[in-house]
Amino acid sequence: MSVRCVLHIHRWNGCRCLDCGKVRDKKHTWDGCTCLICHVTRDSDHMWETRVISRREELDKSAGYGFRRWEVVVLEYTCKKCGKREQHEGDVERD
Ligand SMILES: [Zn+2]
Ligand SMILES: [Zn+2]
Ligand SMILES: [Zn+2]
Repeated sequence: MSVRCVLHIHRWNGCRCLDCGKVRDKKHTWDGCTCLICHVTRDSDHMWETRVISRREELDKSAGYGFRRWEVVVLEYTCKKCGKREQHEGDVERD
């Protein structure tokens, strides 16, 4: 380790010190949700891949004459980069 690093005077290249490899939580080089240099992740700019995991039909009887038919689709989102997963329900209207 260089003397400068011992004195906490690092030579930062973005988030990582060129001399000792120490990482700081600043100035990351973001590629989507992942830092190219230290591979830390952030909760934005994910590369979502979607998959339908279930669907069900629901009838809306409050619509007056006849029924409205809804299809409720449950989607799973998986980030291709960091593996984060989320689930969302969405309504698809059908006649
Ligand atoms: Zn250093
Ligand atoms: Zn970083
Ligand atoms: Zn991600």
